[in-house]
Amino acid sequence: MSIRSGLIAEITSRTLTQTIPAESHGEALAISYGENSFNDVAMKEFLPYKAYKELRNLIKKGGQKINSDLAEEVAHGMKEWALTKGATHFTHWFQPMTGLTAEKHDSFLDFDSKGESITRFSGKNLSQGEPDASSFPSGGIRATFEARGYTAWDPTSPAFIIEGVNGATLCIPTVFLSYTGEALDKKTPLLRSMEKLNDVALKVLKLFGNENVTHIFSTVGPEQEYFLVDKAYYNARPDLVITGRTLFGASSPKDQQMDDHYFGSIRERVLAFMQDAEDELFKLGIPVKTRHNEVAPAQFELAPIFEDSNVATDHNQVVMDVLKKIAARHEFALLLHEKPFGGVNGSGKHNNWSMSDSEGNNLLEPGKTPHENLQFLTFLSATIKAVYKYADVLRANIASAGNDHRLGANEAPPAIISIFLGQQLSTILNDLISNKKSSYSDKEIIELGISKLPVISKDNTDRNRTSPFAFTGNKFEFRAVGSAQSIAPPNITINTIVASVLDEMYDKIKSNLDSGKSLNDSVLSVIAETVKESQSILFEGNNYSSDWEKEAEKRGLPNKKTTPEALQALILPKNKEVFIKYGVLNEREIESRYNVELEKYSQLIDIEARTAITMANTIIYPAVIGYQTDLANAVSTLASVGESKAVKPQKEFLSQYASLVVEMKEKTSKLENILAKTANTDDEEKKAKAYSQEVLSAMNNLRETVDTLEELTDDALWPLPKYREMLFVY
Ligand code: ADP
Ligand code: MG
Repeated sequence: MSIRSGLIAEITSRTLTQTIPAESHGEALAISYGENSFNDVAMKEFLPYKAYKELRNLIKKGGQKINSDLAEEVAHGMKEWALTKGATHFTHWFQPMTGLTAEKHDSFLDFDSKGESITRFSGKNLSQGEPDASSFPSGGIRATFEARGYTAWDPTSPAFIIEGVNGATLCIPTVFLSYTGEALDKKTPLLRSMEKLNDVALKVLKLFGNENVTHIFSTVGPEQEYFLVDKAYYNARPDLVITGRTLFGASSPKDQQMDDHYFGSIRERVLAFMQDAEDELFKLGIPVKTRHNEVAPAQFELAPIFEDSNVATDHNQVVMDVLKKIAARHEFALLLHEKPFGGVNGSGKHNNWSMSDSEGNNLLEPGKTPHENLQFLTFLSATIKAVYKYADVLRANIASAGNDHRLGANEAPPAIISIFLGQQLSTILNDLISNKKSSYSDKEIIELGISKLPVISKDNTDRNRTSPFAFTGNKFEFRAVGSAQSIAPPNITINTIVASVLDEMYDKIKSNLDSGKSLNDSVLSVIAETVKESQSILFEGNNYSSDWEKEAEKRGLPNKKTTPEALQALILPKNKEVFIKYGVLNEREIESRYNVELEKYSQLIDIEARTAITMANTIIYPAVIGYQTDLANAVSTLASVGESKAVKPQKEFLSQYASLVVEMKEKTSKLENILAKTANTDDEEKKAKAYSQEVLSAMNNLRETVDTLEELTDDALWPLPKYREMLFVY
């Protein structure tokens, strides 16, 4: 019996894991929603009324400092609540620049003056922590003599309970800073960017006479794609375990051609996992709403209801962790990698983004009156220009070794950032900026064009699935984000750049008003000017076509295909300037982020290459030598009995096979040599570039030969789970 037939026998005899008793399915949702989140309900119950009110206000407005008395009261209430949930420990939960989350647990256990054990959680414990920063990347910010960093509570994102098999932990969302005050994490700049957007957008709303609105925040709903493979396959593939993607593997004759996975029903085993995961997420107060099969076999998606961009970002990190944890309980490995299977669609994360005011109005929702639409078009055109001016930063924010396989691979949007608006909006904006002004007055344009906007329903915004940044009726959908990535960087950027363009527009509108123009005229002319400048970012066609690539080049739109090239945008002076001006990232923070990403890229490709070499030498080579020996034995046996006619084709096959084995060995050595040379490069930029070119191409060359061998080798001898098995047999 081959290794694989044993795995398949194990997998096909699995029984479904039922974790929720059938009788409680119906009521489960209502009862459990948010029970593991220190949300409004819990705060009301566990805090003194005055403290509750104070905290509530602070959360609503965001960004204020909390006083120590309040911190003391909240800490106590939070601990009492956490104890009722079985928590024994607390942790400051943060998002270092690795893109993952980090925790250091402390027990609630303490001793009073008499030495009796008690549970205690002070305001200081809640507000500030001091993890050892030296284990986290700082990109050069942290001097070796100052290894300390500190974490500080973010009251605007609810604390939550993570349940483990043997106990529970209270997780407190925090920012993570160096002792010199620089951000070492992804949350700090996100909060700063939201604050700036609030300041500027509020000012703009006031222009339109909106006096009731007290604050504005960006909203995000990230749709999360992932693959599931059975744990038995996963554990038999060192590439999946170590790198998250298959470094070898011939494609299956059938994968996604027939679209039958997308439209098929969800398999029972997968559904059981989804239901279990959702139950856990509901308890955490994470509003996951939809689940479905995705295009590729064994690929799925989960989408939440949108929340403010800070909470949505925290929640997406928790979603990724919880999905993995629950998948393991169902004997699955959940793959978040952007391209786990070559030749099969990869996974992304659609980052739906909009802005909301404190009254709950979506600022990117077309209004019902011309006046409202004037405001809508202001925010819309600000976003268009922001993406136009900073397309290269947005591309850099989604650059990673994994996402490079996806962008531009004719499945995901290309590496060229452009905006899709849909026909109706495009026409309206075109009319605004074209010379139609001579035939229509501004007022008429409002009536003719803008007053038609209310009939834009979400359903008739034609869906252009190839666009990386599409307007979908009342929000923008940034579709190029990778499935494993933190959504913080793109949202930090969108918030900041939209704030900066709104700021410019505000000044222009203001000066029009000062010169005596009406509000309508002032705003319309600024919108027209803004869109006109940014027109080259607008593209309604097929983003996958090669014509678009040529056209985009003519338009001067950036098209950076690899991470090291794309990252350069982070440190261009024009891009640094906007983050510095709005106080979102300072020069050192920007440089450090660039360094961290560049190093991370090189490290990842290095790990991939070394894994490929090990697998080639120790798993695949022995297997192909084995089959080669079988072939050679067959040939010599036939020859010894004088079967010369039968010997000929077998001999030919043997020699074809043997030369592939030689080729494979040569390509492995070549990869080894290139890797050794690349790993020794001192200059980080040159090094990353070499990984993206020489090393990756040597890996691909090796893979090609190995995949050919897979297709020629006795199935019983092939040592690695095959695509057709991982994708279909589970
Ligand atoms: P569709 O499936 O038609 O694209 P949905 O309304 O189902 O649209 O939304 C898809 C995702 O977009 C969901 O995660 C949803 O929460 C999110 N979304 C919807 N409205 C907004 C908004 N105003 N801001 C941010 N995200 C939003
Ligand atoms: Mg999708």
